[in-house]
Formats: sequence, structure tokens, C-alpha cells
Amino acid sequence: MLIMGPPGAGKGTQAELVAKRFSVPAISTGDIFRSNIAARTPLGVEVKKYIDAGEYVPDELTNDLVSDRLAQPDAADGFLLDGYPRTLSQVEFLDQTLAAQGTELDHVIVLTVDVDEVVKRLHKRAVEEGRTDDSEDVIRRRQEVYLEQTAPLIAVYRDRGLVFEVDGLGSVEEVAARVADAISQPPHP
Ligand code: ADP
Repeated sequence: MLIMGPPGAGKGTQAELVAKRFSVPAISTGDIFRSNIAARTPLGVEVKKYIDAGEYVPDELTNDLVSDRLAQPDAADGFLLDGYPRTLSQVEFLDQTLAAQGTELDHVIVLTVDVDEVVKRLHKRAVEEGRTDDSEDVIRRRQEVYLEQTAPLIAVYRDRGLVFEVDGLGSVEEVAARVADAISQPPHP
């Protein structure tokens, strides 16, 4: 499964709940990058400048990370990717990786929320978690990058019959119930 939506849509929160419910790992490229930054690994040092500016990390750094993670045993029976793919070239790379593993996607959950609500949430998170990519300029830039580079991916997956749009407004529990309902439906290729 994939979970998609603009920054601040609540992907990470919902991804954790789905992971628990279906006993699959929730794999968040953003979390992986942040833990590398915190631990000052070579990857962390390399990606920090992109993330702090609200830009995407280059595909060649992101793709290998994801294929390594998907090859780990806990992802063998299913997984939920949060924050990947974000570019068309990442979509192609993921297609190849999954084909090589003899597996494929069956649900792409798209969380929908309006921009004002999202910006409000991100401001709140900036205060609570001290994320360096949650300042006002950077928040605006991340929304732009999402609209330019990632929103078009939804059409690609919609053509494959995999997209389930879920209203991301409401309490965490309400949204989680909608997500679970979407996942219980068969994909419709
Ligand atoms: P959000 O969804 O709120 O933007 P994430 O935690 O998913 O937050 O991502 C934070 C940042 O990490 C992104 O703005 C981007 O710089 C980087 N990043 C995460 N995933 C990817 C990816 N698949 N490709 C490129 N950059 C990524």
C-alpha cells in the first residue's frame, strides 16, 4: 500500500495506525531521513540541506534506501509506504523493485485536505516537534513542490485503478475508520 497526500495531511499518523492494524511495517522516507540527520550519518549530512529548504532529496539517494528497506524480511508479507514515491521517476523505480520481488501494489490511499487546514497543522507541529522544515516559508515551498511534483502521481495510480480517496478532515479516529474502509475494498483494475 501507499499513503499519499500533501504535507500535513496526516499521512504519518494514519500510516502508524494502518501498520498496527495489518501488522505490516510503515515505511516513511521522511522519518528515515530525519533519523539519519539526528544521528549525523553521511546520508543525514547529505540530505539535510534539501529537507531544510523544503526541496526533495535527489531520487538516487531516496530510491536505494527504499529498495533496501523493502528487501528486509518484515516487509515480505506487505508494507505501507508513506512519503514515497514522490516523483515520476520514483514511481518507475518502485515498479521495477516490486516486479523484481514478484509483488505489486494493491491500494493507494490519498488523503485529501484543504490548504488552510494543512498549513495550520504544520504550524502546530513546528511548535510541538521543532521540525526545521516547518517554518512558514518552508511549509509554503513544500506545498508547492508537492503540487508540482507529487500530485501528478495520483493520476498515474488512478489509471491503474488503485486510488482510494479518503477525506482527511476530522478526528484521527474518524479518518482511520475511513482509511480502514478503503483498504477493505478490493482494488479495481
Ligand atoms: P511531509 O509529508 O510533511 O512533507 P515527510 O516527513 O514525508 O513530510 O518528508 C519530509 C521531507 O523529506 C520532504 O520535504 C523531503 O525533503 C524529504 N523526502 C521525504 N521523502 C522523500 C522522497 N520520496 N523523495 C524525495 N524527498 C523526500
